[in-house]
Amino acid sequence: MKRLTLEQARQYMTSGAEAVGTEWVSVYDSIGRVLSEDITAAMSQPPFPRSAMDGYALRWEDVQGASRENPAVLRVAGRLCAGDEGMPLGKEGVAIRIMTGAVIPPDANCVIRQEDTDYGEEWVKIFAEGRPQMNCCPAGEDFAQGEKLASAGMLVDAYLASAAASAGMAALPVRRRVKVALISSGEELCLPGEPLSPGKIYDSNRVYLTARCRHFGCDVVLSKTVGDDKEAIAGNLKEALAAADYVITTGGVSVGQKDLMPGIIKNYPGAEPGFHGILVKPGMPTLFARICGRPVLSLSGNPYSAAAIFELLGVPLLHALQGRRDAGPFMHTAVLAEAFPKKRPCLRIVRGYYDGEKVLVAAGQKNGQMKAGIGTNCLVLLPAGTAPIPAGETVKVYQI
Ligand code: AMP
Ligand code: MG
Repeated sequence: MKRLTLEQARQYMTSGAEAVGTEWVSVYDSIGRVLSEDITAAMSQPPFPRSAMDGYALRWEDVQGASRENPAVLRVAGRLCAGDEGMPLGKEGVAIRIMTGAVIPPDANCVIRQEDTDYGEEWVKIFAEGRPQMNCCPAGEDFAQGEKLASAGMLVDAYLASAAASAGMAALPVRRRVKVALISSGEELCLPGEPLSPGKIYDSNRVYLTARCRHFGCDVVLSKTVGDDKEAIAGNLKEALAAADYVITTGGVSVGQKDLMPGIIKNYPGAEPGFHGILVKPGMPTLFARICGRPVLSLSGNPYSAAAIFELLGVPLLHALQGRRDAGPFMHTAVLAEAFPKKRPCLRIVRGYYDGEKVLVAAGQKNGQMKAGIGTNCLVLLPAGTAPIPAGETVKVYQI
């Protein structure tokens, strides 16, 4: 079968994805969820004109020309604190003591900060001139009633949750959490915490994938480690398809005698063949199919291969299922800090640290090496070629 490029594979996987259903969640719990509807402000914020300073609300015309040598003297007609209902000045030549956040009297047009007064309680000396609307926040300064606050498909951040709360919303419409099932396959796999027998290794892929899926706000509803056994894998796959929106497996996708995944998936009832093989290293034997409409991404068992392809293909699909429209591909252009000497028969993905300008490729990039990834923050896409890539060359980095 013809191998797809990374971009073709991503297109194929995301274009066929349908976003999961929706629910309302409290604004407190909404951060990190994906908004499912446009949000429009039902009211203005602030709802009334308010004082930006502790001082005196007055008409600026009444303190024109005022200075320390020649203060204006006004009668103090009352006091307004934040939360008070508000009151008018009533007459000319009058001020109202006002605190930050209090309603500006409808017939006042200026607030003189208290530092420019004698802090008078019955009469106040004003030592500075005002300007129209000085220290007055108009109603709707943040947003006006009917204004769009955010669009469907955006990730809810703390600003959005708090802006929605200030528009009076107690809950937000979001996509429900995507349910993910994870299956690690390999006869050699043991679970962390178990004693290790000869020839076995610990299943680290499920740890990486669980952590990342949780990071993206998914529910990991099924998580299994299974041997290289056709019936056992098919049985777990059946459970996974019943429980989850998205199934991710690792191991057994290549051409070895124990690489059972392609056969199981291709012959699974309801399987639509997707692709098997991408033009990228690591992760060349990546397998993707839909079974009864559910996406199944089968990654190579090598921990770094699984991690890299999860980031580059698995995450965009996750975002599509979450209905995200503001995500990825998080691609930047960076300057290679050191030469990359190795030949690249096809696109090569390596881990690196990107400081916003230069990228340093980590040492120890073999597919089984995970330590190299510790503290890295990007994947570096090195184009195919036989010649070394010199330091200073521009490369693409995918920030994670
Ligand atoms: P496979 O893709 O099944 O051929 O596995 C490739 C390599 O990755 C082998 O060395 C496996 O032992 C290793 N491997 C497979 N699955 C895992 C896993 N879940 N955690 C850690 N290493 C794994
Ligand atoms: Mg294997």
